[in-house]
Amino acid sequence: MGENRVEVKVNGCRLLLMVGDITEQDTEAIVNAANEGLRGGGGVDGAIHRAGGPEIAAACRKIREEKGGCPTGQAVITPGGWLRAKYVIHAVGPVWRGGKCGEEELLASAYRNSLRLAREKGIKTLSFPAISTGVYGYPLPDAARVALTAIISELETNNYFQEIRVVLFNQEIFRVFSEQLQKILTL
Ligand code: ADP
Repeated sequence: MGENRVEVKVNGCRLLLMVGDITEQDTEAIVNAANEGLRGGGGVDGAIHRAGGPEIAAACRKIREEKGGCPTGQAVITPGGWLRAKYVIHAVGPVWRGGKCGEEELLASAYRNSLRLAREKGIKTLSFPAISTGVYGYPLPDAARVALTAIISELETNNYFQEIRVVLFNQEIFRVFSEQLQKILTL
């Protein structure tokens, strides 16, 4: 049994890495790894729609009708339905295409836009999954570095959030994120 939680303070905010299921988190909002059509696919997206019920899909449909969906690198917000979280922020990460198609900037942007949207809504506690690391195929150590760099840079810029959780689905993903956090913090 390895460690399954790491907690650090960044500019007054608790940054927590943990093994767990994002649908069970009691932060004010959770982030979904969505797709451009906001259509609820597999992975974490499917789990969030199942746990949160039809209110989330209905709100996604409305956004799709009004704005055509959500472009890669951006994020939109809906109610959380049956979830403990009041809101779901649907962020669209990039599909990994080898690394020369702007993936890093798009992934960082998905995190930054989620955090900006949370601030605009007055949300101070937020949980992220490891966006793009499932079916979108982003290499895990790179995804972890980009995610944590984007989150830490936001926390250093804005003294606003109380807690950011990064909820990793298994021990292996958690280990990779913890390693990258260590590297970033000892730079
Ligand atoms: P993407 O399409 O952005 O790659 P996926 O849902 O396929 O999204 O995977 C993103 C990450 O979410 C993966 O690391 C996967 O292990 C993880 N994941 C899947 N289900 C959950 C869950 N219920 N809670 C937290 N993480 C999850």
